[in-house]
Amino acid sequence: MFYIKTNISNGVEIKIDLFEDEIYTQCPKCGKEIQINSEELADIIKDQCLASTNVYCKDCAKEVI
Ligand SMILES: [Zn+2]
Repeated sequence: MFYIKTNISNGVEIKIDLFEDEIYTQCPKCGKEIQINSEELADIIKDQCLASTNVYCKDCAKEVI
């Protein structure tokens, strides 16, 4: 099990369980929400830094590539 841990204020910490069907990103061009599955996520982590990665939705990917 993986989870996201974040400090929301001094000493207040939250943990959110991470399920592979609950990973989302947002298209940097149109703002559309995109669901990422674990295989796609593995590809992203393998090739580049997760935090700086932009994943375009199908429509915008056509224009970008
Ligand atoms: Zn888009």
